[in-house]
Amino acid sequence: MSSKTRRKIITHEEQCVGCRICQLWCSYQFTGKFSFSKAFIKIEEPYGLEPKISFLEDCTTCGQCADHCLYGALEKIEEGM
Ligand code: SF4
Ligand code: SF4
Repeated sequence: MSSKTRRKIITHEEQCVGCRICQLWCSYQFTGKFSFSKAFIKIEEPYGLEPKISFLEDCTTCGQCADHCLYGALEKIEEGM
């Protein structure tokens, strides 16, 4: 019997500083270019409020964004199925 794992990216928005490194890594792996607008992760910073993190439908949950977030705002979780 084969075992499969499912990956999830958990957000900790209170730790996000809005650096957008996650967007650069995401866009680079799919387009070969560093582009905020081509990333599958969105960072919105409402004025005076903590950043909001969301993912587009095209996100593959590869985890690259979490691996490169220096502030602990993204956490990669592997779940057994
Ligand atoms: S989630 Fe992490 S890498 Fe992305 S903007 Fe926030 S602090 Fe930066
Ligand atoms: S998990 Fe992968 S595809 Fe989804 S936003 Fe992060 S880097 Fe992009």
